[in-house]
Amino acid sequence: MTRIANLLGRASLLTDEGALDVERASDGRFAADPQALYERWEEFLGWAAEGNHASPEIPAFEFSETDLLSPAPRPTQVFGIGLNYKDHAEETGAKLPEKLAVFTKYPTCITGGFEEVLLVEDGDVDWEVELVVVMGRRAHKVADWEAWSHVAGVCVGIDFSERKLQYAAGGQFGLGKSYPGFGPMGPWLVTPDELTSPDDLALTCMVNDEVMQSGRTSGMIYPVPRIIEEISAVVPLLPGDVIFTGTPAGVGRARGRYLQPGDTVTCSIEGIGSIVSEMIAP
Ligand code: ZN
Repeated sequence: MTRIANLLGRASLLTDEGALDVERASDGRFAADPQALYERWEEFLGWAAEGNHASPEIPAFEFSETDLLSPAPRPTQVFGIGLNYKDHAEETGAKLPEKLAVFTKYPTCITGGFEEVLLVEDGDVDWEVELVVVMGRRAHKVADWEAWSHVAGVCVGIDFSERKLQYAAGGQFGLGKSYPGFGPMGPWLVTPDELTSPDDLALTCMVNDEVMQSGRTSGMIYPVPRIIEEISAVVPLLPGDVIFTGTPAGVGRARGRYLQPGDTVTCSIEGIGSIVSEMIAP
């Protein structure tokens, strides 16, 4: 099993005993910076697979989930996919795009999965649970059948969206989806080989105690391999880049309801875990 976390800024391998600090356990072979791991991902996986690197001097230790930050804290590129679930496309009333609908979330919006998120003055801030993919190898003109082998792992993400700005900006979604804290991801990275069916995972979003979204990633119009094929046909994907892969039905915009101060958004994906965002008054 390979689960990698960003524990208070340090790359950590998660074991049954707890978190093992990668830089210390590897005697400095790998840096503490989680983002740097993706540049040497295959070498890192090889090291992790050698066996238990914990020792009496450098043991694995228990940790608090709320100390986990984004497993990819500073991606060079962050992509989002629009209208990638048929039931969500239908609830928006939009026609299905003829090509993959790609937008960007600017990388400064990326945070860990247990943060307070500042709402926007006079804004309609909405939730979108999404499977998030982190790249482990450069991918340029990669075919769908070889796409998963370029992925470092997956985690849970929320594509927070301020709908007024999203739709007022001439079809350019980027700014409305990139306020600080609008890209939480976590709780940790799970390598694809750990998931029995990486293309069919249940995902849910709850606001407070109410289930708002409940779907399966098999409901994607463009599954992960096709997303990577379509993006990489144009843009080289770099190690550590992040893709938010789209959201199923049940967003606030379709319900006429947006997030309020004090709301808690909990998103979960089967085989990965859960992240929790607390919404704060602007
Ligand atoms: Zn989205």
